[in-house]
Amino acid sequence: MSRDSTTNSRSGVTVVGSANRDIVFTVERIPQPGETILAKSTAKYAGGKGLNQAVAAARAGAATTFIGALGRDEDGEALAGTLRDESIADHLVRRTDEPTGQAFIVVDGFGENTIIVASGANGSFSTVGSADREAIGAASVVLLQLELPLERVAEVAEAAGALGATVMLNAAPARALPRGLMASLDYLIVNEHEACAIGGSDRLDVASATLASLVGRVVVTLGSAGAVLYDRGAELVRVAAPRVTAVDTTGAGDTFCGAFAAAIADGREYEDAARFATAAAALSVQSIGAVPSIPFRAAIEEAGR
Ligand code: ADP
Repeated sequence: MSRDSTTNSRSGVTVVGSANRDIVFTVERIPQPGETILAKSTAKYAGGKGLNQAVAAARAGAATTFIGALGRDEDGEALAGTLRDESIADHLVRRTDEPTGQAFIVVDGFGENTIIVASGANGSFSTVGSADREAIGAASVVLLQLELPLERVAEVAEAAGALGATVMLNAAPARALPRGLMASLDYLIVNEHEACAIGGSDRLDVASATLASLVGRVVVTLGSAGAVLYDRGAELVRVAAPRVTAVDTTGAGDTFCGAFAAAIADGREYEDAARFATAAAALSVQSIGAVPSIPFRAAIEEAGR
């Protein structure tokens, strides 16, 4: 484990995570079991926490590599195209016989949604090979989420720590984390719900303190209230979110994580990186969609002034 990205030749962010094709059906109301209704519109987007966070890191200015799994199908081609368009290195993406991951999202006229995820290729993500190790070892920051099989996430975190990269886990979606995985992490990033679920308490301060006793640095994101940073078991500082009018918070957490990873890879201090990430996430909530709303570095710096 190393937090020092400035005194060696490693650079950039390597994201190891999920990629999904999001298929969004906009409807007047969500159908009852057995009912058939007509959609008002449909659209397909790139998604998955891994891919979203890779886009956020790249747009925030980091040289970014994505390691994930796609099917040999049209959705896989579309997502590979997104990675190319974002200048994200994708040579370590596995192509599997499983279909590309899909998220089937139904959104009603009140903004309520119902989501079904078919993990597909993400679930068959294969073990870490020598080429992966090279990319992981060359990165300043390795950024993980929990949409790949847990044993693979733990394997990557351990390898990344051993190779000297700074290891970050966005523990989403929430699930119990093995102690070994916790011990491999330099940074854990969770929202309030995830902090309580993983920290084992309904009280956010208690749950956060538990997590902070297990991982060196813990960032708890608080929606419109910003984020609270823990360092070596104690609360370090609260970072307020810019006051903005939120129109769609989808992808806010992913934007925060990608921008935070990019800033740490850039050699910024912990608190400064969190301020940069908060500015990025506040921009993302002001427009619709996950990937389309992820801001670029110039806009983040402008907003943070
Ligand atoms: P998630 O998207 O994982 O549920 P949060 O809701 O905590 O996570 O949001 C992540 C970050 O996005 C926050 O720390 C904050 O910086 C930013 N954010 C979210 N909602 C708003 C908002 N309404 N106004 C400004 N910033 C926001």
